[in-house]
Amino acid sequence: MKPLENQVAIVTGAGRGIGEAIAHQLALQGAKIAVLSRSESNSSKVALHLNQKIAGSAKAYAVDVADFEAVQKVGEQIIADFGRVDILVNNAGITRDNLLMRMSSEHWDEVLNANLKGAFNCVRAVIRPMIKARSGRIINISSVSGLMGLAGQTNYAASKAGLIGFSKSLSREVASRGITVNVVAPGFIETDMTSVLSEEVRHAAIAQIPLNRFGQPEDIATAVSFLAGPSASYITGQVLAIDGGMSM
Ligand code: NAP
Repeated sequence: MKPLENQVAIVTGAGRGIGEAIAHQLALQGAKIAVLSRSESNSSKVALHLNQKIAGSAKAYAVDVADFEAVQKVGEQIIADFGRVDILVNNAGITRDNLLMRMSSEHWDEVLNANLKGAFNCVRAVIRPMIKARSGRIINISSVSGLMGLAGQTNYAASKAGLIGFSKSLSREVASRGITVNVVAPGFIETDMTSVLSEEVRHAAIAQIPLNRFGQPEDIATAVSFLAGPSASYITGQVLAIDGGMSM
């Protein structure tokens, strides 16, 4: 029997990049996956791919995680479709980088709403059934930026550091109900998000990474899968940096 057999996982931002890799890894471990992304086309593509590999393993949903009402509705739909939710991975995230003195109030709000409020909205949608079931795994994807700060990312770093405080507080609230809450903080990972970086910024970033390279989405996915699995049942409120040593 696979470690996540008969379990249901919601993965947000699973339409590409790190979220897509997490969805694949959890499906390989036996979980059924609710694939969430902002766009219908990306979530459907990933769900189709998963179902081709493992029949009946995935279903696609399109929602803006920043929209509280819409997220509650999708949460209800997922529970109606799958009957339960065991694992929530809050991975959806965006950047709107700029120096603070040039940052618009809209870009501040957009990033905080997607990255931090989005996680709150998704937890609200699943926490009652998890509490009732007296089990659950919540894994929030933060960033090295939330641990050490990066110039040009005051909005993003605030959202990602906020996720850490959110997760620690939540882990204390729900530990007695058998629910664990942990954070994975990736460093620079090869995805669409980092493909826009100039060669100059890339080189400067690599110079700060002891392992001297960017990571792959699978580096994050395997850690999330471990935290979601039975071997991690005594781990809660922790932050696992997967960043080639950048934040140590
Ligand atoms: P990505 O390639 O840009 O993919 C982002 C995913 O999030 C997409 O599927 C996107 O949906 C979804 N998304 C964005 N805003 C959303 C919203 N408001 N509602 C619903 N879905 C939304 O990003 P990534 O590099 O895989 O990053 C994944 C997570 O890791 C993010 O939280 C990011 O901050 C974090 N992270 C990434 C890195 C890195 O170097 N890549 C480093 C540290 C942390 P669509 O596909 O529909 O557009």
